[in-house]
Amino acid sequence: MQRLTDGFTFKVGNGETSFWYDPWILKEKLCTVVPYVAIQDTSARIKDVWVDGKWNFNFLYTNLPDNVVNAITATHPRIVQNLPDVWTWSNSSSGIYFVKDAYNWLLNPAPLNDHVNWKWIWQLNLPANIQFFVWQLIHESIPVRAVLQHRRVCNTDVCPRCAGASENIDHCLFSCPDAARVWNLTGLVFNRNSSQGADTFTWYKNMGKIHGSLFFIALWVIWCGRNEIVFNNHREITHTSMGKIYSLLKYCEAAFMPPHSVATTPVNPRLVSWSPPMEGTVCLNVDGSLIGATSSAGYGGLIRDHNGVFISGFYGAANVRSILFVELMAVLHGLHICWDSGFRRVTCYSDSLQSINLIRDGVSAHHRFANEVFSIRQLLARDWEVAIKHTLREGNACADALAKMGALSDSSLVKISTPPSDLSMLLLADAQGIGFIRE
Ligand SMILES: [Zn+2]
Repeated sequence: MQRLTDGFTFKVGNGETSFWYDPWILKEKLCTVVPYVAIQDTSARIKDVWVDGKWNFNFLYTNLPDNVVNAITATHPRIVQNLPDVWTWSNSSSGIYFVKDAYNWLLNPAPLNDHVNWKWIWQLNLPANIQFFVWQLIHESIPVRAVLQHRRVCNTDVCPRCAGASENIDHCLFSCPDAARVWNLTGLVFNRNSSQGADTFTWYKNMGKIHGSLFFIALWVIWCGRNEIVFNNHREITHTSMGKIYSLLKYCEAAFMPPHSVATTPVNPRLVSWSPPMEGTVCLNVDGSLIGATSSAGYGGLIRDHNGVFISGFYGAANVRSILFVELMAVLHGLHICWDSGFRRVTCYSDSLQSINLIRDGVSAHHRFANEVFSIRQLLARDWEVAIKHTLREGNACADALAKMGALSDSSLVKISTPPSDLSMLLLADAQGIGFIRE
């Protein structure tokens, strides 16, 4: 039946059909091929855009993808009062629909569109509006200011968010500081310059293969954040964007997962989230880990700002296979790094109550780990504000992941300034926790 509807074309009569919300030119509603319809355009009818025998796209505030513009431009309707807009059977010499014509047409369908190369986009595990956004993006037709200016719809191409560069697609979605902050938090590592060798199409397709839905969802959320500024004059804070990315990702996983695997997914009724520090205070999460089979021990931790933005991290292997020892070592290394980095207000979270108590109360010189406890207490006595707090294990997932990396490493201390890719999802989850609590 789908094929049969392809045999029909839309014929403009009085032009009263909604430009955006009725199917006509592409047999899809045009509102589905743009991220959103500008408020000024919502009541536009075909006859508003077809003026004096010409398509007047300047009438519209919403930017149409080039291929849609081309498809519309190829049509030359003749507006006739009192004649409704209708669908007509386009494969009949008689001009009206006969079953025989439909049958003949079905046997020899003309290819409507070359969808073969684009199939992967429609197969992405993403909602249709994000798929369309990706499709538009690869056609380089999302309405950034450089594109609008080129089409003489806008008289400036200056980036509305940073005012520091021309807003082309690359700047808007990748290099604008607002966008860069989001990418930094996702932990995705990629090189935009490597796209210069490959074409845009291949580059995006590969990014999708490597990073999955997260990559496209992040692009979409960055784009929506940009539109919030342009249309609502509202700047979304980074952790709100991260919360949206994480929610969408969870939504897509749930929506596109085969039913049987949904049933086996364990449900965790209790949600414990990472606690953000106050502004001006950095958050240090630390953890120790013993890995049974190889009997190796490690510690790790990370420093984040009040937005959940990763500042630095560390991990290392311990030569003493004791959970208490590695928990203490995690605190010691973490605090040293904070001090050396110049942070003077620190909230340190550990999920080891035992080590927190030892640090708070002190130990005798005969304690097995007296050296470590003493060293930590000496550090704490310096001129800075440090609070050491207990967190549940669930709120300490990033540090736990780094501690496991530590246990598997062959170095006693590795400092990192960008999060390892394994941490992306956990950082996202923490940022989501913040957004959720504050909203
Ligand atoms: Zn910018």
